[in-house]
Formats: sequence, C-alpha cells, structure tokens
Amino acid sequence: MSLPKTIALIAHDEKKDEMADFARRNEAALRQSRIFATGTTGGRVLEACPELDVTRLKSGPLGGDQQIGALIATGEVDMLIFFVDPLTAMPHDVDVKALMRLAIVYDIPMALNLATAERLVAAN
Ligand code: PGA
Repeated sequence: MSLPKTIALIAHDEKKDEMADFARRNEAALRQSRIFATGTTGGRVLEACPELDVTRLKSGPLGGDQQIGALIATGEVDMLIFFVDPLTAMPHDVDVKALMRLAIVYDIPMALNLATAERLVAAN
C-alpha cells in the first residue's frame, strides 16, 4: 500500500519540531506523495528532508490554511496531517475550523496529532 498521491502538512508553531521529526522518520513513505504545506511548516519539512516534493503555500495566518481547504474542495489534496497546538490562541482560528470542516465534508483522512499521523502512515 502507498500513501495518497497528495498530502497536506501543517503544524502550528509549538508543533513544528514534532512535524520535522515526523517527516524525517517517515521520509521514505512521504517520498511517494506530492506534499502541499503552509509556508513555515513547508520550510521546516524541506530543511529536514530536502528530497521531498513540497509545494509551500502562504503561511497559515496569511491564508495558507484556506489555500489547503480550497485544494481539498477541488480534489487536489487526499490526506491532511495537521499538528494542532491546543494550548495557544490563534488569530486564524476560524480558518483552522474551516479547513477541518472541509476535510470532513470531503471525507479525506485527517490526522490532528502525532499518534494519529503515525497510524495513518503505517496503515498506508
Ligand atoms: P505556518 O502556518 O506553517 O506558515 O506557520 C501554520 C499555521 O499556523 O496554520
């Protein structure tokens, strides 16, 4: 089994180290997919794994979450891995909710924490 063709990666600031470690650990699996990421997250993933096919969108607070939501709506993103920080207030909280809603509407696999992301990758 392989991962979906296109995966979106997002990590809030307190979770970016976790995302970089996740990408490093799962680099071989992630290499099979095209990756879209919000700006800073994509930069961190590329720093950790320069070989990955990562397209960096805008930073989350500047519209990156909404860009990924639009890609889900048009069928261009098949899986969402989003390491959410539950302990910090976000200026773009409404965008985060809208993105999660679209992932549910279009019924794509969505991991909101590390434990689920690891299981999704292991299951594919
Ligand atoms: P970032 O955006 O990767 O550009 O930091 C993520 C977010 O905060 O939604």
